[in-house]
Amino acid sequence: MPRSHRDPAKSRRDRLDLFEIRRDLVKVRSGLAISGDFWQNSADIHTTRNRSRTDLNPAKIRPPEPTPFTVGDGSKNGKPEMIGSIKISCASLAGFPSMLRSPGHAPQPIVSRHVAVIGAGAAGLVTARELRREGHSVVVFERGDQVGGTWVYTLNVESDPIGLEPTRTTVHSSLYDSLRTNIPREAMGFRDYPFVPKDDPDRDPRRFPGHREVLMYLQDFTREFRIDELVRFETEVVRVRLVEEEEKWKIKSKQRSGKEMGLELDEIFDAVVVCNGHFTEPRVAYIPGINEWSGKQMHSHNYRDPEPFRDQVVVLIGNSVSAFDISWEVAGVAKEIHIAARTVIDGTFGKQPAYDNMWLHPMIKDVCEDGSVNFLDGSIVIADIILHCTGYKYHFPFLETNGIVTADDNRVGPLYKHMFPPALAPRLSFVGLPWKAIPFPMFELQSKWIGGVLSNRFTLPSQEEMMGDVEAFYSSLETFGTPKRYTHCLGDNLVEYNNWLASQCRCPAFEDWRMQMFLVTIKSKLAHLESYREEWEAQHLVLQAYEDFIKHTSEQVS
Ligand code: FAD
Repeated sequence: MPRSHRDPAKSRRDRLDLFEIRRDLVKVRSGLAISGDFWQNSADIHTTRNRSRTDLNPAKIRPPEPTPFTVGDGSKNGKPEMIGSIKISCASLAGFPSMLRSPGHAPQPIVSRHVAVIGAGAAGLVTARELRREGHSVVVFERGDQVGGTWVYTLNVESDPIGLEPTRTTVHSSLYDSLRTNIPREAMGFRDYPFVPKDDPDRDPRRFPGHREVLMYLQDFTREFRIDELVRFETEVVRVRLVEEEEKWKIKSKQRSGKEMGLELDEIFDAVVVCNGHFTEPRVAYIPGINEWSGKQMHSHNYRDPEPFRDQVVVLIGNSVSAFDISWEVAGVAKEIHIAARTVIDGTFGKQPAYDNMWLHPMIKDVCEDGSVNFLDGSIVIADIILHCTGYKYHFPFLETNGIVTADDNRVGPLYKHMFPPALAPRLSFVGLPWKAIPFPMFELQSKWIGGVLSNRFTLPSQEEMMGDVEAFYSSLETFGTPKRYTHCLGDNLVEYNNWLASQCRCPAFEDWRMQMFLVTIKSKLAHLESYREEWEAQHLVLQAYEDFIKHTSEQVS
């Protein structure tokens, strides 16, 4: 924005806030505060100025929401006056006209679309924000009664504990009571809305906070960017159907409560962004003999606390982060816990030295009617219950694409860069499919890209080029013997993928400290599974993170 257009009073206020954040950084640098009291002193200053405490949040220092534009009536001489989130998003207004042209493509007029977002979890919330910033009109459909998705913890469990019965009552969240994040909060938060501790006794200031703190952070985000005004709560999308002749989508939604409960509504949208999460539909390993086995079974989706396992002999399948958290917790009450894991560090099978009642086994060979569980190494256990911590399936029961997009053995495809089906791009897209990722900042980049592509500010390759890219990707997975179900596993490609997205959106690359924090956590998790959340030695990374939060904030007000 040209300098003369700035509100001088606002600019001054922002600078004062920035000054306060800098003061706090000095505290961080001098080791006085890195977490719990990060906002403490600033808040005192604040009170004397009679302003609300949350104003100090770096994310508060942000540019105003853009005025939506339309080509024709909102532009001058065919050139848009204003677009998207001029300051926070990466494209600068100065370079804007040239962005409309990319090699080999004729410039496209900038357009505002009517977009449906399915889900108001972290992905749907940030997608709604980015789409609105870009000038689109947005409706977010959320079948629950609040924002947060996975992070809305509930004691409710499903009627079928293993989650296979198609007519079971379903519960969205898979969280257990004791769950704490497995990524440090600084690395986990959105890039332009840092997940920093709040000066509030009701909040959890820990570096790896409990699930309630994450939900509160998402609620803060929702308030801050006024996303709730875009959300239709307790409204489930039951069908998304292509209206081919019009190149649009017909969405059928169903009211889940209130006077209009059961009411179905059909609406037409230009584009749909699917953000429905993928930690709800249990995936269960096939075990020979399981139908005759006499014991009980549960999927971790329905695990809330260890009490049902008291004095039981438990076989737990899986070795993900959640599996470790749960096994450790169950070991505190169970008679015995036997973990069946596909990949284990050599030499660690057998009785676990730190426990009286925990054994590690290779995978299960089969199970028998008498309750016995036979492992591949020949060991046998008579068990009361099998707890499947075996992950989840991508599931889009509402999506009708005439077979263009399928979910086969956890490969959703074909999708260009895990997001756009080439034949339906850009009108259908997915946010949040990749795993072994740092989810929130990735959602942010994915949704910025979608917003810009939908408005024509960014250009996709041709359908053939996208399809060629997808096919090359699939054949590279095959060459390396990577199973189909790992298609969306980012793992070692995490940085490359996010940086590629950032370059598409003309954003700064993924921050080095963020990646380093993630790697330090993985290393420390492997070394001290039970205590890694309590021990954080890489203070220099925290310092870099806060410096970046401030730099980011400064850029927004300068
Ligand atoms: P969700 O949060 O699942 O949101 C999807 C939303 O879509 C829900 O609100 C749902 O009600 C709605 N919805 C679904 N279908 C429909 C429909 N048909 N109509 C309308 N609405 C619909 N990530 C981290 O960053 N750090 C962690 O420490 C971490 N720990 C995790 C621990 C566990 C046990 C699990 C399961 C996940 C964890 N994750 C963690 C990953 C987490 O899922 C993501 O961080 C993120 O919350 C996913 O957001 P989402 O919006 O994609 O999906």
